[in-house]
Amino acid sequence: MNFTYLKKPLYVPDTSKGDPYVTLLAEWIKPFEKEKDDKTELALIGIPLSKSSISFSGAHLHPESFRKIWRSFTTYNIDSDIELSTINAHDFGDVSMHTTDIIECHKRIEKTSFEITKHFPKTVPVFIGGDHSITYPILSGIKKASKKRIGVIHFDAHLDVRDTNYGGNSNGTPFRSLLESNVVKGEDVFTIGIRNFANSKIYYDYAKEKGVNIYTSKKVKEIGIQNIIIEALKHIKEHCDGFYITCDIDVLDQSIVPGVPAIGPGGLHTQEVFDSLEYLAKQKNIIGFDMVCVDPTQDLRDVTSRISLHAFLQFSTGIAQKNLD
Ligand code: CA
Repeated sequence: MNFTYLKKPLYVPDTSKGDPYVTLLAEWIKPFEKEKDDKTELALIGIPLSKSSISFSGAHLHPESFRKIWRSFTTYNIDSDIELSTINAHDFGDVSMHTTDIIECHKRIEKTSFEITKHFPKTVPVFIGGDHSITYPILSGIKKASKKRIGVIHFDAHLDVRDTNYGGNSNGTPFRSLLESNVVKGEDVFTIGIRNFANSKIYYDYAKEKGVNIYTSKKVKEIGIQNIIIEALKHIKEHCDGFYITCDIDVLDQSIVPGVPAIGPGGLHTQEVFDSLEYLAKQKNIIGFDMVCVDPTQDLRDVTSRISLHAFLQFSTGIAQKNLD
């Protein structure tokens, strides 16, 4: 299988062994080799695009900052007693971006997620953005290849349903596009962590009319994120063929994540997101996951990239647990 637009990433981690009693992420996630890695369970794909961000964003540098810290983390989850190196995981590289043409970039992302879904139907892809505009072409590609009815768990401070007539497909519009193109149904979308003074009434009303299930950050604190996840999974099990997770890092409180374009107060805590991702990834019907809007140019000592990577590791823990069942 030759992917049309995947290329070797700018930064390739050093995979050499250090302490013989410690396994680092860099030793676990090896570059994908098409001749022998057709049984990949977890595929990592970098999407270095942030020209499509409404506000300034260096999120195109996140796949690189994400890989650069692979020697700072081990593969063992103490709380869950899970060794991640039991998962067959590979780094598929980055989607090659056009220098100036955002529409072309989105087409390449869609083509890549289509090809992965088509040729690796049992693999769970994890897409490392990039800004949030990437979620529309990712899901569009998955939908075209799988024909599945897809539920979406959407962690975000924003609804992302801006009208595309005002600036085209940006990081403010992915759910508008997904709903308008019927890639997903509003009732199958669970948006968690929405914040006050970060959205407008008109867009809120639009999302409600479309049937999107909206849980504000305050609501999460009131009823508990676990209860929301259980409710969402119940609906997905009854109505969808599987579900996808998209996590905008701005769902977290601004005191935790400096490297984010749209920082804001009153957000979720890391543990709420980590626990949710692990629980969600354990489910048999998980389709894929993306992490978006991490801007390394605004970060401090890689704090935000480390949270993004940790979120991926908690997600991977769930995948490993699913394999044990
Ligand atoms: Ca977003």
